[in-house]
Amino acid sequence: MNRVAFVAVASILTQRKVQLQSAGDSRHIHYQLKSREQHLADALSKEYDVIIVGGGATGAGVSLACANRGLKSIVLESQDYASGASSKSTKLVHGGVRYMQQVFQLSEKNRMEKWQLVAEALKERSNFLSMCSYLTQDFPTLIPCTNLFDLGYYYFGSLIYHCVYLYYQTGGHTFKPPRIVGKDEIQQHFKFAKCNYGVIYYDGQFNDARMVQELLVTSSLKGQNMANYVEVKSLLKNQENKIVGVQAYDKIGQKQFQIKGKCVVNATGGWADNLRLMDDPNVSKRIVSVAGSHLTMPQKYGSSYWGYLIPKTNDGRVLYMVPWLGNMIMGTTERKLDNTINDPTVSNEEYMWLLKSFCDEFAIDANEVAKDVKSKWCGVRPLVYQNNALSTKEVSRTHEIEVSKSGLISVMGGKWTIFRLMGEQTVDKVQELIGNNYKRIENLPKLVGDWTQFDNKKEIQVMMNKFDLPQSYAAYFLTTYGDRAYDVLKLVHEKPENKECLHPQFPHTIGEILYQIRYEQARKPEDILFRRTRLGFLDQNAIFNVYEKVFQIMAKELKWPEKFQKEFLKENFEYIRKLEF
Ligand SMILES: Cc1cc2nc3c(=O)[nH]c(=O)nc-3n(C[C@H](O)[C@H](O)[C@H](O)COP(=O)(O)OP(=O)(O)OC[C@H]3O[C@@H](n4cnc5c(N)ncnc54)[C@H](O)[C@@H]3O)c2cc1C
Repeated sequence: MNRVAFVAVASILTQRKVQLQSAGDSRHIHYQLKSREQHLADALSKEYDVIIVGGGATGAGVSLACANRGLKSIVLESQDYASGASSKSTKLVHGGVRYMQQVFQLSEKNRMEKWQLVAEALKERSNFLSMCSYLTQDFPTLIPCTNLFDLGYYYFGSLIYHCVYLYYQTGGHTFKPPRIVGKDEIQQHFKFAKCNYGVIYYDGQFNDARMVQELLVTSSLKGQNMANYVEVKSLLKNQENKIVGVQAYDKIGQKQFQIKGKCVVNATGGWADNLRLMDDPNVSKRIVSVAGSHLTMPQKYGSSYWGYLIPKTNDGRVLYMVPWLGNMIMGTTERKLDNTINDPTVSNEEYMWLLKSFCDEFAIDANEVAKDVKSKWCGVRPLVYQNNALSTKEVSRTHEIEVSKSGLISVMGGKWTIFRLMGEQTVDKVQELIGNNYKRIENLPKLVGDWTQFDNKKEIQVMMNKFDLPQSYAAYFLTTYGDRAYDVLKLVHEKPENKECLHPQFPHTIGEILYQIRYEQARKPEDILFRRTRLGFLDQNAIFNVYEKVFQIMAKELKWPEKFQKEFLKENFEYIRKLEF
């Protein structure tokens, strides 16, 4: 095990009581995780260094940075973790080839800003993949070309992208250089492709909502607290008008309470202006909400390994096709909204545009393809507004950290790929404010389930033997939970009924759902259906089949009173019905 992994694991072992067991020739660490109720009980008795509002990528990144520097923090999330933009991304860990292209456009006004954006994200791309190897993977992307001029243009563009990565790389995961591919190789991956040649360049991809979960579990094992379904209603201030805590409302326990903290971080993404206005009603709004939609298609339309990038659709946008969890997702669109809303839906116009762009590219019949669409979903990008931006394309994709007079630290904008950097920079501001002398740790923090030199094939075999699992199921548990897979499977095998499968096409069992309720704070069926498992993103029909079962498991485990069950069943089913085609 290298030094980075050793430091991360050693710190977890010393801070939490863990038990080492032998599992064949593999190790098995039992992770003692707190329940949601235990986290809330801690919140009432502690005074925190940092109260983090928002449990998406940004809040989870801040929580991890606090944990690594020994600060005491709590994350408060008004809905479920990752229920905002952080579960609805294109799942790319990338520098942004689109911004790279813009750097070289004559009309580009913010060349330096775009360059920095790409350089910063390329550096973080390596860090991201090496922090959490089990939830991430390399992502070779094909740019199809129809003439030699395009081939040269995209090859040299991708080469510059790769050189920028090599120049700024400080360690972490390594990416292969771009290469030119011919028709035969392309046809092996995309049978509908019409191009004769293309360029393959490399980025990364991941499972976004599960990543938030893994980040929070890591922070929790390092002594941090977190609770979902707790909304921050107002900021508490002292006589000098400095923030000293928050007034919060627990939507599950239906209780108001106060939490004390030396400072508050506003990591509420598209809702950041609400907290800024709570702090100071005179500030101007900074957030521009831009919705983006995706469709999920069966894998037969794409490749199981390569992505496909249409660099210019008929109306000049880019469109990605990404293999993801045995399917293919395609997106995204850009639609400006007046306000950030909780569950935006895909507009008819977006749906038609996605379908048409895809069918035009491969010259296939849109009516036939429409029958195969498995899911559609929409998220809201929280972009930070600058006065000179004329359109959403021109609104900066950079992030900004603002510290108000009363001490509210708002971290706004950015993207998933750079969550770690945003977390570290935010905690730098926290330390300037509260005068704490802890320093950034130099080594890259590994997530709990990750071990360097993690030999996936060997682990899969050990798990297949130990738990009598088919290979695909063993692979699912390892690439979802990393090392925690053993704890999940132990619960699955505890009682015969826990082995019952929810849906014949998916590996989810009652035991896994129980694990997600007990140790991952799942409190509503949608938490299980959309974010702990990714069923709702993969196959919206499947969730209608399993909804009632999931509801019953939750009602029994969480001892929901009958009256509450009826109201809850109706409310949640309506939420899910909205998604129906
Ligand atoms: C369509 C789309 C595609 C994208 N694709 C990519 C991609 O491929 N790669 C990439 O790197 N980035 C991508 N992004 C960007 C990335 O998803 C976002 O930058 C990131 O998820 C933002 O995380 P966040 O935590 O700031 O916001 P969110 O995930 O929205 O989290 C904010 C949270 O704050 C909570 N909250 C709000 N108010 C309160 C309150 N008063 N009390 C408590 N909690 C509150 C909300 O419930 C929410 O969960 C994409 C974004 C979109 C929309």
